[in-house]
Amino acid sequence: MKLSDLTLNTPYLSLNPIFYDKVAPSPLKNPRLASFNPKAAELLGLDPALLETDKLEKLLNGTLLLNGSSPYAMCYSGHQFGYYVPRLGDGRAINLGSANGWNLQLKGSGQTLYSRQGDGRAVLRSSIREYLMSEAMNALGIPTSRALAIISSDENVAREKWERGAVVLRLSRSWILFGSFEYFFHTNRYKELETLADFLLQESFPELIGAEEPYLKMYGLIVKRTAELMAQWQSVGFNHGVMNTDNMSAVGITIDYGPFAFMDTFESGYICNHTDTQGRYSYDNQPRIGYWNLERLAHALSPLVTSDKLKNELEKYGEYFTARLMELLRAKLGLDTPDENDGNLFRALFSLMENGRIDMTPFFRTLSRYDGTREPLLAQTLAPNQLNEWLDRYDDRLSLNASSEAQRHVKMLRTNPKYVLKNYILQEAIDKAQNDDFTLINDLLHLAQNPYDEHEAFERYSQSTPHQFKNLKLSCSS
Ligand code: AMP
Ligand code: MG
Ligand code: MG
Repeated sequence: MKLSDLTLNTPYLSLNPIFYDKVAPSPLKNPRLASFNPKAAELLGLDPALLETDKLEKLLNGTLLLNGSSPYAMCYSGHQFGYYVPRLGDGRAINLGSANGWNLQLKGSGQTLYSRQGDGRAVLRSSIREYLMSEAMNALGIPTSRALAIISSDENVAREKWERGAVVLRLSRSWILFGSFEYFFHTNRYKELETLADFLLQESFPELIGAEEPYLKMYGLIVKRTAELMAQWQSVGFNHGVMNTDNMSAVGITIDYGPFAFMDTFESGYICNHTDTQGRYSYDNQPRIGYWNLERLAHALSPLVTSDKLKNELEKYGEYFTARLMELLRAKLGLDTPDENDGNLFRALFSLMENGRIDMTPFFRTLSRYDGTREPLLAQTLAPNQLNEWLDRYDDRLSLNASSEAQRHVKMLRTNPKYVLKNYILQEAIDKAQNDDFTLINDLLHLAQNPYDEHEAFERYSQSTPHQFKNLKLSCSS
């Protein structure tokens, strides 16, 4: 199918208008298509070979309306850095409608009813980061929003300095947030709260319709998915940076990529967000914050379901998290079956990575070819004795495997990515794009989508991060 044949529908607009603000996108000055993602096009049923780039550019710039599309911003609230903000809403996101179960959303296309003091814009820098990173996460098997395309422009957007305005077209199965429920709860609109729960059931949990206590069951699934998502983030060293409840998806996926980072050298207390002075959203706090946010959601759902029952579901969080994390770490280490000492083995590994200032991604990649020869691993640590001791334990542990060494190598090389999009790599693509050179964005898109493969031209991106770029903090302004 061609883009111009695509028809959208807008079930959200069947809700009471209190849920949204119908608003048209405000076009950017001199837009140009920077990159297009064929894999996301296929999700919508589009044929990438028939891509009409002029139409796509117009779609992102808000000057082409698809059949059935009726743009709107969604109303929500949320807890930001622990404090409740009574009304947020899509201040710079505009929804176009959905196709094939995917909701299309423009980010950065101008002000809405919910913009507060904001300009409704997004800068090229953060748009490139979101565009590439969501695709990288997806390729690592981590649930996430997706991205179809990105435009740059000559629109001047004021941040710490003037920057280029841009728009990303994001896709998600759902854009309902924990904060969507909080808004209706905290304004005592319990009827609308129930309507929203029904909407979410229809949209994203249809298998629960007609079940006993569907809201409770839905909450239970959100708890499970969020716990498992946190385990996935931890396993690859991803730090989100702004885990406010309005950035938490009610379907348990990663959304709203801001000052995120893939850690370079492993540092348990790493904080990617420069604004987060207390480290609320540090790497090692993420699982706890996931729980805290789910507690806020349970509170918001309390008019619909008995609190005790919600609490029961919430208390399964730790088990879900640990089970998934153990499973992921066993896979990362190429271990066939569980063993009761695995927890200790994993803790010792994270401790030696931290003490040895080890760059996680190349380390696990090197470990994926481990055959008893330790030099390539020892070369990556400042604490070789600790690593040697750990490798003695690992050798013993590997002897419990039924599979062969060769089989383990194959599996580990499909589990431990060769490439993750570290911040310094993204920055190189951003610098080029400021001068309308979008080639590296497209190269990185390919890299992001094939993280386990060899990419000879980009070998250096698989190496340890250059010293001056390690574990930097990022500004929240975007
Ligand atoms: P975030 O943490 O980036 O998801 O943003 C938090 C809230 O601020 C959301 O309601 C956003 O829509 C809003 N927001 C962020 N940046 C802007 C902006 N430039 N203009 C308007 N609203 C914004
Ligand atoms: Mg309205
Ligand atoms: Mg947000």
